[in-house]
Amino acid sequence: MVSKTIDVGSIPAAPAIFTMEENYIPRHRKISGFLIIFICLLAGIFFMSSQIFKSLAPTPEKTESSETSENTESPKLTTAEDGKLNSLEKISITEIASTAKAPNPDGSRTIYLTFDDGPGPYTAKLLDILKKYNVKVTFFVTGAGDDSLIVREANEGHTVALHTMTHNYAYVYSSIANYFDDLYQIQSRVKNLTGQTPTIIRFPGGSSNLVSAGYDGGSHIMSSLVNEVSARGFTYFDWNVSSGDAGAPLSSEQIYQNVTENLKPGASVVLQHDIKDYSVDAVERIIEYGQKNGYTFKKLDTSSPVVHHGVNN
Ligand SMILES: [Zn+2]
Repeated sequence: MVSKTIDVGSIPAAPAIFTMEENYIPRHRKISGFLIIFICLLAGIFFMSSQIFKSLAPTPEKTESSETSENTESPKLTTAEDGKLNSLEKISITEIASTAKAPNPDGSRTIYLTFDDGPGPYTAKLLDILKKYNVKVTFFVTGAGDDSLIVREANEGHTVALHTMTHNYAYVYSSIANYFDDLYQIQSRVKNLTGQTPTIIRFPGGSSNLVSAGYDGGSHIMSSLVNEVSARGFTYFDWNVSSGDAGAPLSSEQIYQNVTENLKPGASVVLQHDIKDYSVDAVERIIEYGQKNGYTFKKLDTSSPVVHHGVNN
């Protein structure tokens, strides 16, 4: 036993051993090296394809409002990923050209900035920016926020449109009666504050939403509502450019890019939320980009080009 240990003394000199270690890579290390490269490649491909899908797909307005309990109650659309999947699989945006009453016959490019879920803490700041650039937009308001902000929106020439009073998916999509009960409540709020009776509306989650399927008892309520709102004299608008501000917080730079890189050749109806500071902070640059690049900013009215998602429920 001992003599074998002594034989080790005949091993080549130390520098030779070091050289051998530098050049020789054991097989298990080679395999794990290849594995790491393979995994990195896979991750890269996955990331790139998800970015491509993201840029192609319209994103349904997510269950975003923090003032209600809908986030925890919604079984259908609980994460941004779900939203992307749903939009990929289900939504086809009706192109403006095929549905618009008069889609910019002069070929002009128009941006309709729209802000949902307010008024809120950043609405006053937004109104200041819009005043500075003399840009008129559309607010789809709720029961939240100060009355004075809705008054200001109207007084400064913007369209005050209706989103919902409660923004509570579980309530508004549980029955047609409840939907209209809520809608007439927010219409009354605006009427009492401004003297106007808005008929322009936007469904929470958009007309393409699948959230409603979790609350409507299998009645496919959206298929009924899109007809019923028209029968009652309302005009609904979805959007064809999403700022992406409905999900996890993004940088204002990202909001700016999401909007400006997805503008349409005719009419762009842009979804933003004035309850998100990072979204409001992007508006000034969006306006400057639009004005520099030949776009006109307008507010929605009942004769604006129709932008509707496909109904999925
Ligand atoms: Zn909303």
